[in-house]
Amino acid sequence: MSYKPNLAEDFAFSDLHCHSNCSDGELSPRQLVERAADKGVKILALTDHDTIDGVADATQASHDRSLMLIPGVELTALWGKRVVHIVGLGFDPDNPELQMYLCNLKKIRDQRAELIAARLVKKGCPDLLGKAKALAGEGQIGRPHFAQAMVAARVVDSPAKAFSLYLGAGKPGDIKVEWPDMSDAIACLHQAGGYAVLAHPTKYKLTFTKIREMIAAFAESDGDAVEARYPGIDPGQTRQIEIAAQRHDLLLSAGSDFHCTGFSWSELGKYPKMPNSEMHILHRIL
Ligand SMILES: [Zn+2]
Ligand SMILES: [Zn+2]
Repeated sequence: MSYKPNLAEDFAFSDLHCHSNCSDGELSPRQLVERAADKGVKILALTDHDTIDGVADATQASHDRSLMLIPGVELTALWGKRVVHIVGLGFDPDNPELQMYLCNLKKIRDQRAELIAARLVKKGCPDLLGKAKALAGEGQIGRPHFAQAMVAARVVDSPAKAFSLYLGAGKPGDIKVEWPDMSDAIACLHQAGGYAVLAHPTKYKLTFTKIREMIAAFAESDGDAVEARYPGIDPGQTRQIEIAAQRHDLLLSAGSDFHCTGFSWSELGKYPKMPNSEMHILHRIL
């Protein structure tokens, strides 16, 4: 039986952004749902990077607990030349166009992985593609998997070093790829019956002038909401984002962006709480 939330009561116990091991998270979709339920989360959106492979299992798992699972995804997209993340919520996971769109993203990601491996070989590393793929398992391969592979191959002694020397911005493994434009991501989510949320606006290393520009462009592309509360954002930044959202008639969203256990600052359902306002996207989704 799926849980029917009572929004007035359950609103404060929602989390609309988290990751399973179908992308770069630690827990399986089922473990994630179990943990969320144990932490008191009542409404959870699973939003893996560029894949919805975990949604069916998570939905199944949610039926055993008093928790509603909202289908979600975090799409990699471009705003101009910058990579941004668009969280999709409440779409039909069986939508064929969405599935094709995700298939294309997987192709882009796999090609990028091959290019990263080749670049690292050129820099004197062993060929780490196989190892990185094995580490990604069923999930989407990304730079964190190469970082782990480099540690395992003793090229570096920590993932942080792998990023600062080989994989981070401007380094050999920082391969620029043509992700779809943000407007394509938004259009795809809409045609699948879902909503598009601009993820964590303060995490792109932009000035607030640029953040406001990005929010305006997102609204111009028909986006629906902006994340205004998540770990690491301060109240002043939240306020500025809320003002920008209001100016462009955008709704608000919030979530933990949980990836793994073992960090006190990162937990399912844990982020600066938002008052239950009509501007919250949950009012649209439910
Ligand atoms: Zn993100
Ligand atoms: Zn995320």
